[in-house]
Amino acid sequence: MIIVANKRILDFIDFLNRNYPLEEEIKVTCLHGYDAVMDDETDGHGFAVYLPEQKYILLPMEIPENVKEEALKDPELERDFVIHNLAHEYCHAIQDKNGDFEKYGVEKLDDYADKFADGAVAKFNLEYNSIKDEKGEIKND
Ligand SMILES: [Zn+2]
Repeated sequence: MIIVANKRILDFIDFLNRNYPLEEEIKVTCLHGYDAVMDDETDGHGFAVYLPEQKYILLPMEIPENVKEEALKDPELERDFVIHNLAHEYCHAIQDKNGDFEKYGVEKLDDYADKFADGAVAKFNLEYNSIKDEKGEIKND
């Protein structure tokens, strides 16, 4: 059996398309086995990235070790890490479409993308009632 991503990611992509539709096609590449991508412009490592020229989002699927450590205190952080990053990068695609890249600095764009991702993930979790199951335990998939 071949799969492109787990069901939670696919459900979240469907959620983004329904709630924040974008006419333009944005292609997501799910990088299984990766927990970072290299950013050309800053030469630094980032988790995910949106490439405006190609209209691609490169999305690593593994949780970085430092996030796993933090998630010991907050399991939702680990569960939502990948979809939060996907929402953040998708917001950059929306900003790109709106011409915001020329109007605002990176910091402001990133701030807004984080807020967008916070809101989208919270709404998704409510909609899918996936914050806690009947036993009060956090579901992972
Ligand atoms: Zn960003």
